[in-house]
Amino acid sequence: MTTIDDLSAGDDVDSRCLKCKAVTNHTIIAVQDGQIVKVQCNTCRGRHNYRPVKPEVKKAVRRSSAKTKPRLGKEVKQAARFEDLLVGRDLTKALPYAMTAVFEPDDLIDHPTFGLGVVAKKISPVRIEVFFKDAQKVLVCASSL
Ligand SMILES: [Zn+2]
Repeated sequence: MTTIDDLSAGDDVDSRCLKCKAVTNHTIIAVQDGQIVKVQCNTCRGRHNYRPVKPEVKKAVRRSSAKTKPRLGKEVKQAARFEDLLVGRDLTKALPYAMTAVFEPDDLIDHPTFGLGVVAKKISPVRIEVFFKDAQKVLVCASSL
């Protein structure tokens, strides 16, 4: 391995050349205190101060934010739980949702906005909690009493 101490005028060294806009082979013209000072480009013959070849600076890999993960996990969980609720059900028999209709726990309903849902429980005689794919909603229904 060649160290800087071994270099002297007349030796070849790699340097960045502004004229060639590249790292080219140079001949050392002057060395001072063990440091290369002046070089001559072997490609364009231009003489200039020695510019050390800098290693390529690799761009730091951006770490994706983990903030969105728990929320996504919750949504996936909700969807998976919803899928479980639909197992064994005849989806074509879903009851169209209407505020004037009567629903009982475990009924399968078809909501114009939220889609298919399963009635989780009755909160009051006129309110039901419904499990949809994305979220649980409280809907108004007619009193069954
Ligand atoms: Zn050059």
